[in-house]
Order: sequence, then C-alpha cells, then structure tokens
Amino acid sequence: MRTIGRGQRTRATEGGARRAGAAAGVVLAAMLLGGCDGSGPGGGVHTSTGSVSSRSATSSRSSAPSAATGTVVLSTAGLQVSGSVGTTQLAQVLAEARVARTWVARTWPTQVAAAGTVRVQVAANAAQFARLRGGVPESDDLAASTTASGEVVIGQAVMQGLTAQGQRVVLAHEITHVVLRQTTRTGLARWVVEGSAEYTAYRWTGLSLGAACPTLAADVRADRLPAGPPPDAAFSGGQQQRAYQDAHAYMSFLVDRFGENAWKQFVLATSSGSTDAFGADFDGATTTGLRAAYAAFLRHTVG
Ligand SMILES: [Zn+2]
Repeated sequence: MRTIGRGQRTRATEGGARRAGAAAGVVLAAMLLGGCDGSGPGGGVHTSTGSVSSRSATSSRSSAPSAATGTVVLSTAGLQVSGSVGTTQLAQVLAEARVARTWVARTWPTQVAAAGTVRVQVAANAAQFARLRGGVPESDDLAASTTASGEVVIGQAVMQGLTAQGQRVVLAHEITHVVLRQTTRTGLARWVVEGSAEYTAYRWTGLSLGAACPTLAADVRADRLPAGPPPDAAFSGGQQQRAYQDAHAYMSFLVDRFGENAWKQFVLATSSGSTDAFGADFDGATTTGLRAAYAAFLRHTVG
C-alpha cells in the first residue's frame, strides 16, 4: 500500500522509531495481499468468544476479563474492541479506532450512524486470526480483514508493525467496508470496494495522492498510464499493491471530475449490488470514454 508506508516511514524516522516505520509498508503490503476484499467467500464464520457478552453495560468504556478465555472487551460509543492480547493493546486499538471511525463518518455520516456499534477483534496470533476470519488459511503477515458478517479482525502485524497513523488507516479502511456493508455481498467490483475504502481512509491523513500511490506515480512520470480502474484480476496475483493504488487514484479522479455527491451515490449504489451505476451517476460516462481525462488527471496530480 502506498501512501501509508511512505508517510509512516517519514513520521517514524522523525520520531526515532525507524524500525516501526520501515515495517509499515511491509505490513500494509501484506494486508493488501491477504485480504480486505469484502466479497471474500470465506469470511463469514465469526467465532467470537462468549466473554463479549460479559462486558459492563453501564460504563461507556468497560473492561471485562473472562476467566474462561482471557478475552477482554473495551467499548465506547459506536465501537467495541475485544481480544485476548491484553488491556493495554486493546486500549490502543480502541483509541485509534475512535479516530478512524470519525474519519469514516466525515464521508459517510449516515452510514456510520446506521451501522451502530462496529466490532473489532484483535487476534493474538496467526492461528486465531485465521479462525476469527472464518478459518480461511492465511499467511502469517496478513494484517486486517472484515468478515462477511461485518466484523473487523486485525492481526498482530497491525499492532506491532504500524505507527498510530498506519493503524488508523487500516481501521478506517475496514470500518468503511463495514458501514457500507461491502462484505455482505459477493460479486462487487473490487476496484469500487477497495478504492472507496482507500479513498475514505486516506483522505484525512494529509498525504498527497502521489505520496499515497508511489508505484502508480512512478509509472505516470514514466508515461505509463493506466487506461482506467483496475480489473478484478489485478487484485490477485503479484500486483495487489498497485491495484489498490489504481483503485484509490480512480476514485480520486471521479470525485475531482463529478463531485463528491455523485461519487458517493455511485459507491453506495454499487455496494448495494447495482451494476449500472457508473453511467447513471456520472452523466452517462464510461470508463473508456474517460480514459483521456483520467490520464490528464494523473499527470496533473501525481506526475
Ligand atoms: Zn479492503
């Protein structure tokens, strides 16, 4: 993933935490490689521990360790974070998730309000992470995912390899999937699902599009311009990072050209299963017809 890795490196270096910064790009890359596709067929089974229900209902933020599982639940308005990784780490996740939820709400206020409490589970290890995601085999470095039931699961890579801003971006990306209900349907165009989450998460980081999409930017400067949004196939195989960057950039282009309201209508319609929203929301445009305009946008913004 682009911007985050670069931005986090800079920030971490300034703070003397070079190791954490350097790891950010790796972890984010792993996240892209491993998941975050709301339409993943295996994401449905959620095996939350029973201790979730033992949290205090009277406190806006509570800690309720379970003797049976060691799971702790922390909650605040609109968020619940649980896991067996210890209260300190959970509190950190909760703090960053609060910021992330605020970021998402700036773009999708109605959807965030309607979503109610967003649940985030922090896996203690790779095996638990795979189990929480639904038993789908994953590599050890997968960072985050959203289940088909709309629950965010994050792995230790997020906590150990990312700075606070990186964690916020990962969480905002996943929370976007949750509130737009992009994980409850299959067959959605990947560039819309991932591009909308990327755009939503990164727009408040202060990072430029070029900084956020360094691989794409390098290609633009070399006059290797994408024709349009990435096809679904680009999100599997060896070029996932670039696919995420391309999806993010195309969303930025659509917002720039047609305005945020039209873009939001398009994302909501597509996330609801519409397959013809592009032309309907963008004045009859087609991705083919917009090729030259997209190229000009990229040259201007990231070239
Ligand atoms: Zn995703």
